[in-house]
Amino acid sequence: MQVVQQILFIVLVGVAVWFFTKKVKEIMRNIKLGRDEDLTDNPGERWKNMALIALGQKKMFKKPIPAILHLFVYAGFVIINIEIIEIILDGVLGQHRLFAPLIGGLYPILIGCFEVLAALVLISCVIFLIRRNVLKVRRLNLKELNGWPRNDANLILITEVVLMSLFLMMNTADLVLQSRGNPHYPVTDSFWISGNLTGMFSGLSDGTLVAIERIGWWLHIIGVLAFLCYLPFSKHLHIVLAFPNTWYMRLTQKGEMKNMQEIQNEVLYMMQPELAPAPTGDQPAQQRFGAKDVNDLSWKNLLDAYSCTECGRCTAACPANQTGKKLSPRKIMMDTRDRMEEMGKNIDANGGTFADDGKTLAHDYITVEELRACTTCQACVEACPVGIDPLNIIVQLRRYLVMEESNSPQEWNLMFGNIENNMAPWKFSPDERDKWAEEMNNA
Ligand code: SF4
Ligand code: SF4
Repeated sequence: MQVVQQILFIVLVGVAVWFFTKKVKEIMRNIKLGRDEDLTDNPGERWKNMALIALGQKKMFKKPIPAILHLFVYAGFVIINIEIIEIILDGVLGQHRLFAPLIGGLYPILIGCFEVLAALVLISCVIFLIRRNVLKVRRLNLKELNGWPRNDANLILITEVVLMSLFLMMNTADLVLQSRGNPHYPVTDSFWISGNLTGMFSGLSDGTLVAIERIGWWLHIIGVLAFLCYLPFSKHLHIVLAFPNTWYMRLTQKGEMKNMQEIQNEVLYMMQPELAPAPTGDQPAQQRFGAKDVNDLSWKNLLDAYSCTECGRCTAACPANQTGKKLSPRKIMMDTRDRMEEMGKNIDANGGTFADDGKTLAHDYITVEELRACTTCQACVEACPVGIDPLNIIVQLRRYLVMEESNSPQEWNLMFGNIENNMAPWKFSPDERDKWAEEMNNA
C-alpha cells in the first residue's frame, strides 16, 4: 500500500511539473513575439527596483491595510511552501515528517511559524473575498472583470482558504495521534496553533484521525500541484513575473516619450540635414509606424501583460476612467494578454506559423474611443505595483492609428497641419509670430 502511494505521488508530481513547464515555454514563446528592446542598462538600479518594488512591495504601501493583508498572503505563500519540500520528500521516500528528527527542537518552531502564517493567510483571504464580493470595492468590480477574471480571483482566494485549513487540520490530527503514541507519527513538541485545536479531535478514534491526517496531507499536496498547473493561466502568474518585470522596467525619466527614430530622421533631413544620419544604402525594411497588433509591441509590453495582477489600481487612478470615459488601463493590459494568447494558439494550430485571422489588437480588442481618451498623464504607470506601463502600449497603438490609418479627430488634424506648415500647433506662421512679438516689444 505504501509503495502504491509513493508511485502515485511521484506520478502526480511528474505530471504537474511537465504541464507547468509546457505552459511556461508557451508563455516565453508568446513574449518573444514582440519586437526587440534593450533594457539591460544600469543593472544596479534594476536590482534595486526589483528588491524594492517586487520583493518589498513598496508601491503597495500607498494603501497600508490592503498592503499588509497582501504581504501576509505573499509571505505566507512563499514561506509555507518551504514545507512542500518536506512533503515532497516524505511522499517520494514514504516517510512522515522527515525533517523532525534531523532538526530536533527547531522543527516545532518552524512548523509553528508556518501555522501562524497560514492563519494570517486564511484571515487575509477571507477579508479579500469580502472586499470583492460583499463590499464591492469599485476597482474590483468593473465590467472588464466580468466572467473568467472575477472567477479566477475568487477561485484562488477560496483555494488558499482551503489549503491553509487543510494544513492546520492535518497538523491537529497529527498531534493527537502523536499524543496517543501511534508509531507512524514521530513525537514532536506541540505546534503553535494546531496545539490549541487538539480538543476538537480528541474524541475521534485512531482510524478516523489517520484518515483525516492522510486526507489533509493528500489534498494539500494535490491542491499545491493543481495550483502549479493553474498558475500560468491565471493573473496569479504575477507571483513569479513581478520579479523579472520590475528588473526590466524602463529607467527613462517619468513622462519621457521615446521619439520614433524614422520620423525624427525625416524631420532632420528636412530641417537640419547636417545632423541627419547619412543614408547607408542598406537600410532595414521599414517596420510599421506604431503598433497594430501584439507583434508590433516590444517584448517588455508583452511581459507587462503577463505580469498584470488585474488589481485595477491603474484604472482607479486614471482621470479618463474617473470621468466616465471608456478607457481602463487594466483592460489595455488584459486585452494585450488575451490577444497574445490567441496568437500563440493560432501558431500552435498552424504548425509554428501565424495564419492571418483577420483580427488585430487595435480595433478588435482595443477601440479607437479607448485609445483617444488617454491624456498621457502617467497616473497608471505611477500606480502600478509591479512596474507595468500601460501608457507605452496606448501610445504605440495611437501612433499606428494616426500615422498608418490617418485615423485622428478633426481637431488633431488641424494641429498636425499647423505643425507641418507653421512649425507650431497654431495657424500662424513663424514670421507672423515674430512680427507679433516685435509689436508687443515695441508697444
Ligand atoms: S496615462 Fe492614459 S491610461 Fe494612464 S492614467 Fe493617464 S489617462 Fe489613464
Ligand atoms: S497594470 Fe498594474 S495597476 Fe493596472 S491592473 Fe495591472 S497590475 Fe494592477
